[in-house]
Amino acid sequence: MEKRAELYRGKAKSVFTTDDPDRLILLFRNDTSAFDGKKIEQLDRKGMVNNRFNAFIMQTLQAAGVPTQFDTLLSDTECLVKKLDMIPVECVVRNYAAGSLVKRLGIEEGTALAPPTFELFLKDDAKGDPFINASHVVTFGWATADQLARMQALTLQVNDILRALFDQAGLMLVDFKLEFGLFKGEIVLGDEFSPDGCRLWDKDTKKKMDKDRFRQGLGGVIEAYEEVAQRLGVPLS
Ligand code: ADP
Ligand code: UDP
Repeated sequence: MEKRAELYRGKAKSVFTTDDPDRLILLFRNDTSAFDGKKIEQLDRKGMVNNRFNAFIMQTLQAAGVPTQFDTLLSDTECLVKKLDMIPVECVVRNYAAGSLVKRLGIEEGTALAPPTFELFLKDDAKGDPFINASHVVTFGWATADQLARMQALTLQVNDILRALFDQAGLMLVDFKLEFGLFKGEIVLGDEFSPDGCRLWDKDTKKKMDKDRFRQGLGGVIEAYEEVAQRLGVPLS
């Protein structure tokens, strides 16, 4: 597989074309950003940890029947994925109240949410990733009603699979964000699943083990990501 031009440089990953028009290389960098890119730092080992973590989770989901972009782990910081036409909508599931839900609705942090909530945000940094609803998605043509229904069903399926996985590792899956795209007409899970895009709390101590450590300046960010990886049995180099 030959790596060719840089197609896109995001806040945390770079995307490269390859000699196969259906495949891209995702390069996970050490750049760490929060608050729509207003806080940015380099954290040693983050690219490697997130790349290996994402490969483990995507392979677990694929084996459980979720269609994912994942093809091959190429190196410490790179993986080969299907080239998707990304849908600019972020799907968020919450099992416990945290983050923007707490701010928006004044629900106490940590409140158990049953059934879990499903929320949509427009992926648009310039607009601050606004909260949107299903009718916006369809009316503005970001996805069809059928595609959106499939994204919601897959997001809830991912929640069932990963809640159980993290629970066995002594962790609460508080919330997470997924992005989907189209590959040959099918909805496929894209982007990444790593502690950058979810909230994980230790079941006993409620210690935050995710990007909130960075957002809130708590320190020990990568140490926490590595502990999560180690508890799940993700091989790190
Ligand atoms: P951001 O765009 O939010 O700054 P990243 O730094 O993670 O995010 O950049 C990765 C970019 O690659 C994102 O825009 C994401 O939507 C896109 N992307 C992720 N997976 C795929 C894929 N399989 N095919 C095409 N684009 C993808
Ligand atoms: N999230 C993300 N990228 C975004 C927005 C949110 O990965 O652009 C994740 C975030 O890490 C959390 C979940 O989605 O696990 C819900 O985020 P929330 O709406 O609470 O927003 P926040 O206050 O974290 O910005």
